[in-house]
Amino acid sequence: MRLLLLAPPGAGKGTQAKRLSEHYGIESISSGELLRREVAKGTPCGRAAKDYLDRGDLVPDDLIRDIVVEQVKKADAKGGFILDGYPRNLSQAKEASRLADDEGIGIDGAIYLDVSRDELLRRLLHRGETQSRSDDQEATIRHRLDVFDSETRPLLDYFREGGLLIPVNGEQPVEHVTQDIIAALTARVPPSQSPAATRSGSPDQPRSDGGSR
Ligand code: AMP
Repeated sequence: MRLLLLAPPGAGKGTQAKRLSEHYGIESISSGELLRREVAKGTPCGRAAKDYLDRGDLVPDDLIRDIVVEQVKKADAKGGFILDGYPRNLSQAKEASRLADDEGIGIDGAIYLDVSRDELLRRLLHRGETQSRSDDQEATIRHRLDVFDSETRPLLDYFREGGLLIPVNGEQPVEHVTQDIIAALTARVPPSQSPAATRSGSPDQPRSDGGSR
């Protein structure tokens, strides 16, 4: 199973990625976590990324692409992945599509967790009080939500047109959100279907059924 997780900050990406990774026995990859690790290690990539992360802006595409691609290829060789936080803008989505074509790594679905802005703000402010992420201050939180709306939200149409978007109500209890995702995926990718048969289709190449699943 190869999945993308598209959702604004605070929608529960990390929680759902972990649950889906356990359910399907696939690796969970978070682009934000990969970057935070680079920052913590003080690598050249981390030093270049730090100010973007602190401001809540997207890092330049070429800074994130290679580290994500490397992890995706490794995870894919082990049976699949759930990729949280990448792609985050249209040029990254097109890059991911190219990769899917070149490497034969097509995705089975792009999950969108739908949560209202008020609820996202409430959750992120709470997280800011209980954890110590440098980007969970109120002004930065509001900026990250704006960045999601301007840069990432357009990807919903992109994946919908490719027949790959799986929208889920992210304001339900955690386990209901997971159940809805699994039910939608089961309807699209029946477990009896061979992995080879499920590994078709990138957003630029909608599946042959016209995306009507
Ligand atoms: P996240 O943990 O997904 O909320 O990401 C935290 C921060 O990492 C974001 O605010 C961006 O600064 C950066 N980031 C994560 N993924 C990407 C990406 N695909 N493209 C650019 N920046 C990213």
